[in-house]
Amino acid sequence: MTDNQPARVRYAPSPTGYFHVGGARTALYDYLLARQTGGAFILRVEDTDQKRFNPEAVADLLAGLRFLGLEWDEGVEAGGSYGPYTQTGRLDIYRKYTKQLLDDGYAYRCFCSSERLAAVNDARQKAGQNPGYDRHCRRLAPPETEARAAAGESFTVRLKVPPAGSITVHDAIRGAVTVKNSQLNDAVLIKSNGIPTYHFAVVVDDHLMEITHVMRGEEWLSSYPLHAHLYNFLGWEPPVFAHLPVILNPAGKGKMSKRETRAPDGSLYPVFVHTFKEMGYLPEAMFNYLALVGWSYDDKTEFMTREEIIGRFSLKRVNASPAAWNYDKLNHFNGIYIRRLSVEALTDRLLPFVRRAGIQADRDTLLKITPLIQERLTLLSEAAEKIDFFFGDDLPPFDLALLTPKKLTPADVPPILQKARAVLARIEFNHDALAAGLKQAAADMGLKAGQFFQPVRVATCGKKVAPPLYGTLAVLGKETVLRRIDQTLARLSE
Ligand code: GLU
Repeated sequence: MTDNQPARVRYAPSPTGYFHVGGARTALYDYLLARQTGGAFILRVEDTDQKRFNPEAVADLLAGLRFLGLEWDEGVEAGGSYGPYTQTGRLDIYRKYTKQLLDDGYAYRCFCSSERLAAVNDARQKAGQNPGYDRHCRRLAPPETEARAAAGESFTVRLKVPPAGSITVHDAIRGAVTVKNSQLNDAVLIKSNGIPTYHFAVVVDDHLMEITHVMRGEEWLSSYPLHAHLYNFLGWEPPVFAHLPVILNPAGKGKMSKRETRAPDGSLYPVFVHTFKEMGYLPEAMFNYLALVGWSYDDKTEFMTREEIIGRFSLKRVNASPAAWNYDKLNHFNGIYIRRLSVEALTDRLLPFVRRAGIQADRDTLLKITPLIQERLTLLSEAAEKIDFFFGDDLPPFDLALLTPKKLTPADVPPILQKARAVLARIEFNHDALAAGLKQAAADMGLKAGQFFQPVRVATCGKKVAPPLYGTLAVLGKETVLRRIDQTLARLSE
């Protein structure tokens, strides 16, 4: 940062849809700057577009921010001295500044009907011009427009963009950008229903909330000159602006999808924070990964704690060019973060996933199972199908064909199970004794360990792929193991 003054940084989503990782990345950077400078992270809901308002979106957003550990200091639900923090609660405030702009001649009332506006737009496009408004009402005298408004005629309020010249805006990531005023539209500030547009509300709020840094998606860069004009017209000092790079899809072609899609193999490409949570991504992995989507500390450091990222973040190292989302990398991060958890902590994270999958797991049993799967887990949601057989007395019927190892025949299976049963009945159920006993049993029968283990594993776990055998048998316990072997032998003799 250029200075280390406490930054007041806001995340200002429009509640039109579920909380997307693109928004999460913006919120994360806001949070990082606020924490690094000992400033404030502010959450403001920009709900002026009532047509696109989605009532579920706010709850989804708050839950997503909390999941990622992006606790806000001020804003919706948290309160603060700059509220209200929801824009539709601030309509009186916008009215005051609309009047100021009208009185100062920086804005004007527009009475054009939507039909006329559409026709103008069409005509401009046909003539090869940019779509936009022909400034028809700009020449009306203010007393006339006041009278028409007072008589109840419907109108919008538009920004009076200077007719000539250009404006230069500064972006902390991209440097200076100069735009000719002739390329700008007389943007609508107040809609005919009296509600401000995003452009107007965002400027008023950022100023009144004393925001020092505006970080937002690159798609807003083109609106920045309009916002800069508003700051000038209102006589306000603008905050620092930083337009964050677009997040591309994993193929690096086009923006990351706004909707979740399934691959041909049925796997889901999540894009909403709540889906990542449901799939069992850890917030600490997401935090670390998201920080690196567009920012880097140096050219090599990947794994950093929350505190390290807060300390190291800088807008100077935010890349101006787009960053591609990489599910493989995120999965890799998640696996690493899972392995870094203590057995206790991982157990507590797994418990709700396992129970949601319908397994009546108790914490004490799960504590013993967790170490068996910790090394192999990428997502918390994968645990249930790996460990379901630990719970419940009997196995659901499995395909008996699974019992037969390669190069052996079904007729070889019962003697193996009988031998295993005899050995298991007499040894102690701890890792070393099980390893020694079972290896010896395989050797006695002239079989490779793998050949001997497969029927034992399938008879006790119901599947060919299961956690490491000795540990698994030890957790299942002698009684369950012997009973399941007996049940399998009985099924085989039917
Ligand atoms: N409400 C805008 C959005 O949801 C925020 C843009 C900004 O941060 O200025 O994209």
